[in-house]
Amino acid sequence: MRDTDTPIKAGQPIPYPPKREYVEPDWTRLPGYKGVTQEEWENATWQRKHTVKNLREFKDALGHLLPEDLALSIGQDMEQRATMSMLIPPHMLNTMNMADLWHDPVRRYMAPALADRLTEWANHPKASRDSLHEHDMWVAEGLTHRYPTKVLAEMLSTCPQYCGHCTRMDLVGNDVPQVTKLKFAMPQKDRHQAMLDYLRKTPSVRDVVVSGGDIANLHITQLEPFVSALLDIPNIRDIRLASKGLIGLPQHYLQDGVLAGLERLAKKAFDRGVDLALHTHANSAQQVTPLVGKATKKLLEIGFRDVRNQGVLLRGVNATTQELLDLCFMLLDHAKIMPYYFYMCDMIPNSEHWRVSVAEAQQLQHDIMGYLPGFATPRIVCDVPFVGKRWVHQVAEYDREKGISYWTKNYLTSIEWGNHAALQQQYAYYDPIHTLPESGQRWWRAHEAEMARASEGTHAVHA
Ligand code: SF4
Repeated sequence: MRDTDTPIKAGQPIPYPPKREYVEPDWTRLPGYKGVTQEEWENATWQRKHTVKNLREFKDALGHLLPEDLALSIGQDMEQRATMSMLIPPHMLNTMNMADLWHDPVRRYMAPALADRLTEWANHPKASRDSLHEHDMWVAEGLTHRYPTKVLAEMLSTCPQYCGHCTRMDLVGNDVPQVTKLKFAMPQKDRHQAMLDYLRKTPSVRDVVVSGGDIANLHITQLEPFVSALLDIPNIRDIRLASKGLIGLPQHYLQDGVLAGLERLAKKAFDRGVDLALHTHANSAQQVTPLVGKATKKLLEIGFRDVRNQGVLLRGVNATTQELLDLCFMLLDHAKIMPYYFYMCDMIPNSEHWRVSVAEAQQLQHDIMGYLPGFATPRIVCDVPFVGKRWVHQVAEYDREKGISYWTKNYLTSIEWGNHAALQQQYAYYDPIHTLPESGQRWWRAHEAEMARASEGTHAVHA
């Protein structure tokens, strides 16, 4: 019999409970927010008005806490590498660890520095704008029809915050020296109408992701009628509102007017048997604060079916077992946000320092199993160009030396309708070259130009 006085030393690789505290960091420690009251801090209008839009404002907010060499490197990155402009609400800035900004996970993806990026292989030869080809699959402007029963509605091209690794860097945000953004051609109202028209005549669609950009930037007087119209389409059974704003600017979801509109939608969805959920995007445990939890609780109270997290797997931010589980425990234990997916960072330009290989992602998936309830164990997924999301263990073939994985699919995207040969092909995804053995890196040095040329057109490789 076990001696009950002896505490069990489980000795697990990842101990539970985690040490991290669930507290709102004190914003008055930041020189720029020294005199800011709680009332101001919790006000969405104040947050938006004081959102940091450039390096000067970043320096003003952080003052002496921002190392000079880091400020210089962030400025160099903006000129030479960044694919997104700077946009950081004070709430999000306040979640950074001021004691070590160089290594802080939130700083690393919200304010990337040139020194963070790789010198060799900073950019994969196969990287591209719109690497998922969402634009090619538009069936109405901004409406991507990639899967058989679900669509993505890009309602607008702005967010309350801009993430350095944004997969929609082609479309979302302001122009930067490296990227002139694609602009929607149609007026917003007409675009939304065209999306609804398509969905009304397409009964095969049951699931709509209402996204952007970020729906936190769409006024509730525009969001509500659109979602309400979706609810009037009999075949729509699932609606997911996509908003990183819940993490970056939770104050938005604590406003009476926004909550009243969302509550009307939740009630209508419930009455019609439709699941209405909000999907958000936290990448680091420290981003899960009591204000995020308070806003999430409001959404659940007013009738949202769920609030789920779709993070992005980023080296230096969350790509260790401990970091992933820390984040999942904070989401689940405190904020009541369901860990759902971690996407591998897509093959957009200049993202190689963030990306992990398929093999690393498989190892992480293995290592997080068993610590969370099955329903809350996130799947790590690879979004394969021309295919869609695949669990990382679903790879069909994998050349580890060259870092090329091959994937299959079981449905046609909107650009292949009627072309059943697409189902017989394999589609390639590429690991970051710096993670390959030396022989693989040598191969890429020898074939870089040829591979970049071959990427024009298609990623399908095996007939
Ligand atoms: S919130 Fe989403 S859409 Fe907006 S910049 Fe970040 S990743 Fe891109």
